[in-house]
Amino acid sequence: MKITIADVLSTLNAKEEFTVAAEQDRVRWRGLVYPVTKKEPFQLCLVNNDNKKLLIAGDAHMTVTLPCDLCLSDVPTAFDLSIRRELAIRDGAVVSEDKEESAFLEGAVLDVDRLIYDELLVNWPTKILCREDCKGLCPVCGQNLNVRDCGCDRQVADPRMARFQEIFDQCKEV
Ligand SMILES: [Zn+2]
Ligand SMILES: [Zn+2]
Repeated sequence: MKITIADVLSTLNAKEEFTVAAEQDRVRWRGLVYPVTKKEPFQLCLVNNDNKKLLIAGDAHMTVTLPCDLCLSDVPTAFDLSIRRELAIRDGAVVSEDKEESAFLEGAVLDVDRLIYDELLVNWPTKILCREDCKGLCPVCGQNLNVRDCGCDRQVADPRMARFQEIFDQCKEV
């Protein structure tokens, strides 16, 4: 969704509120695509501060399905995005040295999806688990161990670990 913010940019101390919504139904990141399973319209407030600054504020809530780090099963992940941006303006236009910072703006057109996308990446979780005690996948056969135990001998799955096991067993025998 794109909105035109020319009035706010050019009017001293103008304040405008837009009801906006994300249009994207997937999020692309690092070559992977994640489905957006829930999103809702929200208020985006824009303020011209003394013809010097453009303030952008809004709270967006979205749910994106991400894979569990250990077992790869779907984890609906809620994002509570608190968008707070401040950009310098001069003569009714945004002046930004950092192009990335204002990538969601093209002249007086604000790309809501880009704004949200940037915010999603900032809030991306470093760890995603379907549950705290996720057992993960069997390294031997790939079975999801939360569903059932395949019975594989996982102790010797990794040759380096097997070596450790051997030494450890010898220690115990002494
Ligand atoms: Zn899991
Ligand atoms: Zn297995």
